[in-house]
Order: sequence, then structure tokens, then C-alpha cells
Amino acid sequence: MTDKPNIRDLSLEQIEALIVSQGKQKYRARQIMKWLYQTGATSFAQMTTLARAFRAEMEERFTASEPALDRVQTSADSTRKVLFRLGDGLAVESVLIPGKNHWTACISTQAGCAMGCLFCLTGQQGLRRNLSPSEITGQMTMLRRHTPEGLQIKNIVLMGMGEPLANYDNTLQAIRILTSDHGLGFSNRKITVSTCGLAPKIVQLGQDICVNLAISLNAPDDRRRSELMPVNRKYPLATLLAACRDYPMPGRRMLTFEYILMAGVNDSLEDARQVAELLRGVRCKLNLIAFNEFPGSPFKTPTPEAVSAFQQVLLDHHYTAILRASRGRDILAACGQLSGQAAAGGAPGPA
Ligand code: SF4
Repeated sequence: MTDKPNIRDLSLEQIEALIVSQGKQKYRARQIMKWLYQTGATSFAQMTTLARAFRAEMEERFTASEPALDRVQTSADSTRKVLFRLGDGLAVESVLIPGKNHWTACISTQAGCAMGCLFCLTGQQGLRRNLSPSEITGQMTMLRRHTPEGLQIKNIVLMGMGEPLANYDNTLQAIRILTSDHGLGFSNRKITVSTCGLAPKIVQLGQDICVNLAISLNAPDDRRRSELMPVNRKYPLATLLAACRDYPMPGRRMLTFEYILMAGVNDSLEDARQVAELLRGVRCKLNLIAFNEFPGSPFKTPTPEAVSAFQQVLLDHHYTAILRASRGRDILAACGQLSGQAAAGGAPGPA
């Protein structure tokens, strides 16, 4: 593992400041960004529009590496789970989810996760470490290069391994590079940050950048939410919802609340009525996801009838409530199932 800093951790403005301080012209920074994010260079040696001596100088000081693609598993429904190996040998996973005319990329922001949500395989592992900006954006540049022919990645969800807002600065820097015209050029309307509910960071995110926000809700009251999601003991529902109400949503954008239905735990009709009451007045939609069982998981998948009845209560209360089909279950790529562990033999290997 190299101990040189990665040029991909820097924004355009930071690269500009760096090379101006080296006595070079500012526009060279835009050339470097173009090589990194549009042409796909992974070393300075490939950046042939830069003078040879400058390339050598940069190569001496920086790396331009991406996470290494370790393995790809393809689900029966075409979902692809990609295992990346980081410079220190740790592994993280991303998921490519097929849509009608595009792909959605679900990427990771941490190796493991400290939040300990009971229903999540990533959460059972604890936190190994935060990902750097280059390790977050590097999943995207690699995925884009390895996306099957024909369809483009149109949406990015930061919903893979880890809690993005617990790795706030690196996540923000990565989003700035993902949305920069000189970076990957994604619209911020196409990027969704998912959180388990770090209320102060939700407020900060709303002040710093304008991206979509998804909140993992999963229970209609504090008692059960605190049992399922330890974060709720620190930021209970009233605090979380106050932060959500203040989150800026221009135009017709809505917050998304994710609700994982677990049989006999949070899937009753009364629970649905409580959720409807809880979210009253919040401009939002709900994504309902039937729990995906994983080896050793303490919860069970609810029946399709229970899920439909839960949805109907929310529809009756005039919410947009979408049943999200779980993708990639057979390769443990569905919500809450990412482990960052390569499995043997080609079959199996997050929120
Ligand atoms: Fe972490 Fe998200 Fe899993 Fe909770 S659901 S443990 S925040 S990865």
C-alpha cells in the first residue's frame, strides 16, 4: 500500500491551489480532472497533455489509484454486486441495480458500520474504518467502466455499507466531486444520501449541499426504534423529525422514509396507522421493503399479504407508499445484506 496521498481526494479547487503553488498554470487542474474522471486515467503517466517533467513530479507526490475490482456477482434479476479491495486489503461492496433504461449505483461510505442496526448484516460487523473521498468516488468510476454495455448509471444512492453522515467530511467531498462538471458531472437531483438518523448531521447536510435524503425509519415509536436502531437512543423520533422538517427540498422534491417490514415486529396495521400519524405534515414518500433474511438474522420476512395491508393503510392516509422489490436477494445484495466478504464458489458473498 502506498502512503502517497491520492489526487482523487482533492476537489478541482484544491488541485488548482496545489499546482498554482507549484508555479504551474491553473488550467492544468482542469486537465487533470478530465483525465481522471472523463478519460479514465489511473496514473499521471497517462496524462499526455501535461509536460513530461510535470507528470513525473506529480507521480512522485501523488497516486491516482482507484479501489481494485475483486469480484462481480450477478443475480438472477440482473442486479450486480461488486466487491472492491481497498489499498489496505479491506473490502467494500457496491451494487448496480438495473432499471428500465438505466442503472442505479448503490455505493459504500465506510468499511463496516458502527451504528449496529439489528436488522443489518453490515451493522453486525462493526466499523473497520471510514472510506476516503477517493474510495467513495472510486467505486463510481470503476462501476461506470464496468457497467454492461448499453445502459448508463443515472442515479447514485449512498446506501451501501456504512452510515454516510458518520463519515461526513469525506462523504461531502465525494459528493462534490461526483457532482462537479469537472468530476463525474452527476446532477445533485440524482444523488440520494441515506441515513439512520444522525439528526445534527442532517441539519448540516441541508446547509452544505442540496441532495436527496432518505431516512431509515423502521419503527413507529421510540421504544421499538431504539431496540432496532441504537442511534434512536441519542436522537429520538421527535429530534429526528424536527431535523427532517427543516431539511431543504427545492421544487417538488420529497424526503424518503425507508421502512423495513419485519414479521411480527413492526408490520401490523396499527403500526402503519402510527407511522401515518408520525409523519403527518412532513413532505415525504415511503419506501416499504420486506426484510431480507440473511444467515443468522433474528427477523423474518413478512407475508406479501401483511406488506400489502400495511401499504394500503398508508395509501388510505394519502401517502405515496411504494413497495420496493428487493433486488439481488440470491447474492446477498439486497438492502441490509452487504458484508464486504467475498464468498467462495461464485454464489453469495447493506441500509
Ligand atoms: Fe449501518 Fe445502515 Fe446497517 Fe444501520 S442499516 S448498521 S446505519 S449500514
